[in-house]
Amino acid sequence: MNPSTVVIDRRCVGCGLCLITCPEHALVPARHHPEVVDRCTECLACIEVCPADAIHQQPPMRGREAT
Ligand code: SF4
Ligand code: SF4
Repeated sequence: MNPSTVVIDRRCVGCGLCLITCPEHALVPARHHPEVVDRCTECLACIEVCPADAIHQQPPMRGREAT
């Protein structure tokens, strides 16, 4: 489950910049790319620093969860 609207896609090159940028430590290392956990406040700082344009904000799902 990912309650944040911030998502990371496969363009991630694993540089780790987002991990050290997030003020909430809401990005955690995972198998293929970092994952956003529910501490995310949607400040969007990570989107600004990602050199691969791999982080995006998607509209909140209404009535159902993203898969
Ligand atoms: S949007 Fe802000 S709080 Fe959320 S993961 Fe990115 S840097 Fe962290
Ligand atoms: S800043 Fe972008 S490319 Fe670097 S680890 Fe985070 S999502 Fe991946």
